[in-house]
Amino acid sequence: MTLSLTAAQSYRQPWPGLIEAYRQYLPVSDKTPVVTLHEGNTPLIPVPALAERIGRQVRVFVKYDGLNPTGSFKDRGMTMAISKAKEDGAKAVICASTGNTSAAAAAYARRGRMRAFVLIPDGYVALGKLAQALLYGAEVLAIKGNFDRALEIVRQMAENYPVTLVNSVNPYRLEGQKTGAFEVVDALGNAPDWLCIPVGNAGNITAYWMGFCQYHQDGKCDRLPRMMGFQAAGAAPLVGGQPVTHPETIATAIRIGNPASWEKAVAAQTASKGNFHAVTDTEILDAYRILASEEGIFCEPASAASVAGLLQVKDQVPTGATVVCVLTGNGLKDPDTAIKHSQSQVKQGIEPEIPAVAQAMGF
Ligand SMILES: *Cc1c(COP(=O)(O)O)cnc(C)c1O
Repeated sequence: MTLSLTAAQSYRQPWPGLIEAYRQYLPVSDKTPVVTLHEGNTPLIPVPALAERIGRQVRVFVKYDGLNPTGSFKDRGMTMAISKAKEDGAKAVICASTGNTSAAAAAYARRGRMRAFVLIPDGYVALGKLAQALLYGAEVLAIKGNFDRALEIVRQMAENYPVTLVNSVNPYRLEGQKTGAFEVVDALGNAPDWLCIPVGNAGNITAYWMGFCQYHQDGKCDRLPRMMGFQAAGAAPLVGGQPVTHPETIATAIRIGNPASWEKAVAAQTASKGNFHAVTDTEILDAYRILASEEGIFCEPASAASVAGLLQVKDQVPTGATVVCVLTGNGLKDPDTAIKHSQSQVKQGIEPEIPAVAQAMGF
């Protein structure tokens, strides 16, 4: 009997997760127990309606990291942080979170048979993220304070108690997250001209830059992108050059006033001749709706900051350039914002009869 593969089977290599896929670039050994949900390998999707808004033969793609197992790029860092914590014999991990870190930490920690403690700013975590952390079995502590305060607390907790810190100040988080840049280069065959990315605690922009530089040194790309970081106007310390005491934005995932990776992000911006810009909540919501209604891509508000930023500075994009916007999280995370800010509404109270439905459809 001969074995024959179906088209789908031969086309789709089973994806092993990013630690196996990029093992040679990551600080893991044969002794590292890999805790994975087969994260990574997310699609790089062309967005022609956005490209048309810019014109001048600019090519635009989104790196849709909302398709990771827990719905955000945080999984890339968490598979590394949790695997290394397990290798070190940790029994519990802790993080401060605007929501996505807690979902990822909870999922990977539980999979690795560890306890997960998460500190969140009370009232500022999107519904989907809270639902995830609870169902995964995290121990969720809501503090009467913002993310920046929560991070200060968990840093001290990790110093004084037997819990491993898995915020992006844990260097393994950035190691995992840099694989986003690898995947972009693997898909395009080179680095893009611009990389547009939302910036909150500034770990991801730092990680992407690490990834591009490492691939460049390894000869996988012959250029480096300009790193374009976008912050919400009410939470834009890197734009203003000083911490923001009371950060405010609808994009709760980037509602951060004192980024932990401040210096590293500035170093990436400087070395890449990139820039930081602030985008207003109105610009964020416009980009959020455009992505969904014109491209069919549902991301969360913080993610749309990368596209809002690109549209804000579109006249600066060189003719014929290739631009990648990172969409950091899935739109399903935050159904409240989607419903509240959608331009469409449910037409209610329609009789269950053909004429009534046809009339409601405008026929
Ligand atoms: C964490 C997060 C960010 C910000 O990333 P940083 O590494 O903190 O700059 C942006 N968008 C989403 C959806 C996030 O979860």
